[in-house]
Amino acid sequence: MSGEGLATEIDLPSWFLFGKRLGEYSLDALLLYGKERIDMLLEFSQRRTLEALNSMSGKFNNLVGLVALILAASATNDMYFISWLLEIEGDLFTALFNKLDLGKKVAVLRYILGELLVGIEVVSQKLGMSTESLLPEIQSILPKLTEKRQARDFLIPMNRFLAAARFSRAYRLIKSSRAIAIRGWVIAPLEEFFRLSKSHYQDMLSEKIQMLSEKIKKDPEFQSYKAFGEELISYWRKKMIVQKPVVKRDLVTTEDRLWERIDTFPPCLRILYDRFISTGYLPHIERLQLGLLLKALGMPLEEQLKLWYRAVDNVGLTWEQFLKKGGYYIRHLYGLEGSRKDYRPPKCETIITRYFCPFVKTNFTELKELIRGMNPAISSSELDKIHEEIISREPRKACARLLASIIKNPNLKISTINHPIQFSRIVYKHSRVRTNESKGKSSENLQENVPQRYKP
Ligand code: SF4
Repeated sequence: MSGEGLATEIDLPSWFLFGKRLGEYSLDALLLYGKERIDMLLEFSQRRTLEALNSMSGKFNNLVGLVALILAASATNDMYFISWLLEIEGDLFTALFNKLDLGKKVAVLRYILGELLVGIEVVSQKLGMSTESLLPEIQSILPKLTEKRQARDFLIPMNRFLAAARFSRAYRLIKSSRAIAIRGWVIAPLEEFFRLSKSHYQDMLSEKIQMLSEKIKKDPEFQSYKAFGEELISYWRKKMIVQKPVVKRDLVTTEDRLWERIDTFPPCLRILYDRFISTGYLPHIERLQLGLLLKALGMPLEEQLKLWYRAVDNVGLTWEQFLKKGGYYIRHLYGLEGSRKDYRPPKCETIITRYFCPFVKTNFTELKELIRGMNPAISSSELDKIHEEIISREPRKACARLLASIIKNPNLKISTINHPIQFSRIVYKHSRVRTNESKGKSSENLQENVPQRYKP
């Protein structure tokens, strides 16, 4: 397969929005297509298996629904909706992209990156270097290369064709030491560029939303677009509420006192908890996340009240005054005030778009120190893998990598964390296995003793 000819004449896949003209549609028609797309995206987000994707993938070829969602996002600038849309469409992109053959993958990547050279001869010719002088340069970014193996042999498998893209489009690979830069080009095995595709695709969607938003603000029909967007987003909100999983109540065994086991906390909870304990302050939305997750780990109301009494805004208040003020709000979380709704803890997808997930909101230099606080024994290669997942905008995979390092199981079958409580349950289970093993007890049936209330 010649690198230069690879995919230059191959059409982009039908589910790929960019590079296509879709014709004109009335707002009424767009509303219908938009609702249909929301239903499909929510179904995809719930099932996520390859089988489910295979049965649904043809449905994603109709792109009018996606255009409707972009228009709704542009007209309303609803940040929750926009984050959800970028996140779920990014995940869908990755799932569909991974199913493509090599030629189509390269075609998509060429569209996304502008220019992509594939094949060592093509790259060396463009750089004006001989392949013999290029190969030693790239040794440093081929970590699996053994001394006995030649770099040229390593690069033969198709996913590892040597490739190059312009520095301005692919510098993120340099930051994670997965590529080298020569004369304005970023050079790496092709599979490294595949990893970049999701974040670039999300950036393209985001830019499209921003550009359209600027354009329609000046349109005399702006109010109609806004009303259209609000109707579609209100449909999405209702569907999101219905979609919440049904959970069996009152199954948490409070004797495990998981809310006291900060070593089992998922990173989002641990960071918020530590921050609150050290400063006494968190913004409203993060307080809500912390309160709901601690409640999900079985923290009784009285303990939660004692915790929040430490907040800086309660300084000077007597316990009774606090109970009347902040106490009302906390009892509300437990379904004892107001609408008496027993609020559930948000799952990762919701946290990533609406609350605080450190793999999205924290820069890596700071995050690295926080991670070391959670797992002092973490190796630099494990940190590199977490960093790679963050660069690929896969926060739940980054979280699973951290989990694998904490429980010392590099072959952990779970590659994605779906719910913070899932993280705690797994760490807790492994810590019990280790404790029992060190006491010489059998680890059988430990699963039965893990709190079962939230079993995402
Ligand atoms: Fe928390 Fe989920 Fe983010 Fe992990 S991936 S830090 S559990 S929100």
